[in-house]
Amino acid sequence: MLDVVLLGTGGMMPLPGRWLTSCYMKYNGIGLLIDSGEGTQIAMKEAGLSTHDIDIICFTHYHADHISGLPGLLLSIGNADRTEPVKLIGPKGLERVVNSLRVVAPELPFDLEFCEIGGEVQHLSEQGYEIDAFRVHHKIVCYGYSVNIPRLGKFDAAKAKELGIPLKFWNKLQHGETMTDGESVYTPDMVMGAPRKGLKVTYCTDTRPVPVIAEMAEGADIFICEGMYGDSSRDDKAREYKHMTFTEAAGLAKEAGPAEMWLTHFSPALIRPQDFLKNATRIFPDTKIGKCGMSRVLKFSDEE
Ligand SMILES: [Zn+2]
Ligand SMILES: [Zn+2]
Repeated sequence: MLDVVLLGTGGMMPLPGRWLTSCYMKYNGIGLLIDSGEGTQIAMKEAGLSTHDIDIICFTHYHADHISGLPGLLLSIGNADRTEPVKLIGPKGLERVVNSLRVVAPELPFDLEFCEIGGEVQHLSEQGYEIDAFRVHHKIVCYGYSVNIPRLGKFDAAKAKELGIPLKFWNKLQHGETMTDGESVYTPDMVMGAPRKGLKVTYCTDTRPVPVIAEMAEGADIFICEGMYGDSSRDDKAREYKHMTFTEAAGLAKEAGPAEMWLTHFSPALIRPQDFLKNATRIFPDTKIGKCGMSRVLKFSDEE
């Protein structure tokens, strides 16, 4: 199962009860954070999450509302006694930006590992997560992330018996390893069924509505998308500042066909985003207004 918690839903500046953009996921004990706006560590505490359990942090881009919470968060991770490394992923310039912020947090009890991404789409395999970073269209270089948890096919024990595969190899074969026993070679495809539907969360902010977003969010369990402005009276602003309206986000969702869309990254001027929800639901009915602490446990279709 994959836990998803939307920590912050604000764009530009935090408001009382609305932290800046951030989203946390946990799968198989590995925590993945996307963005860390100011207040992210408080939002984590409010959601009952430990800052110790952050293994990977992905950054969409280096505007302050997406990364200014990092120095405090790193100190908080250290205070939670983490000694294992934390992997940071983000557009080019990551190491320079993070090291600048770290002037105020120079000593940490864990290492930082950097992975700078480039190109239009980059695939990353990280500790059980299959991540696609995709370039979107903002004022500066910005990426969205599709986080996938693949699900292998079912192990066919009867077939393994029939083929006379020794029991000691079954577990390895189930985990995708090829085994040799003298002359005999056993490959996973001999005993594994077709891959089953995995889990997928696509996260994208800040950007104009570009086609790659709908492609990457196709069939997602949750599509988390920016909705900076509630109605079309802000179309000009959305174009100028390279953001989206609820209607534009819903248009992407309609194309992508996720199970649901959560809107996030609201303008500070958008005090009551729920008043504009219909601007999205008339195009994509399964739209929800993101709220800090909103969460979902995603399970594989055959998981109890
Ligand atoms: Zn932003
Ligand atoms: Zn931005």
